[in-house]
Amino acid sequence: MIDMQSIDGPAQRAGARMETEMTDSTQRRIFVTRTLTGACALIASPLAVRAQPARVDEADETAVALGYKHDTSKVDNKRFPNHSAAQTCLNCSFFQGSATDEWGGCAMFGRKQIAAKGWCSAWAKKPA
Ligand code: SF4
Repeated sequence: MIDMQSIDGPAQRAGARMETEMTDSTQRRIFVTRTLTGACALIASPLAVRAQPARVDEADETAVALGYKHDTSKVDNKRFPNHSAAQTCLNCSFFQGSATDEWGGCAMFGRKQIAAKGWCSAWAKKPA
């Protein structure tokens, strides 16, 4: 006759406990890994959202053609005699930023940003 209690004895219980502990340990490791991965994703996503669009390079083909400068005071007034230092991207009708933005979009430069203090020959006074 088989003693049923011997099957469920201390050795089997110890084995079952080890298996449970290993499972708990593995589950804990998976939980920690997933939590850290999730936390990294949460931290990274606002940074991705805050990433700034590329800025126009004064040497870009369009910038050169329009005489764009990041600083209106650096504009070549011989080439653009109608330019005045009071004309800036900020007061141009094509500027797509807000009044406090240092950089913003412009219809002339697609997705690249231009400086609020900048200027180009397409400047047109923003309506009051
Ligand atoms: Fe600046 Fe206006 Fe020229 Fe755009 S069009 S770069 S806002 S001056």
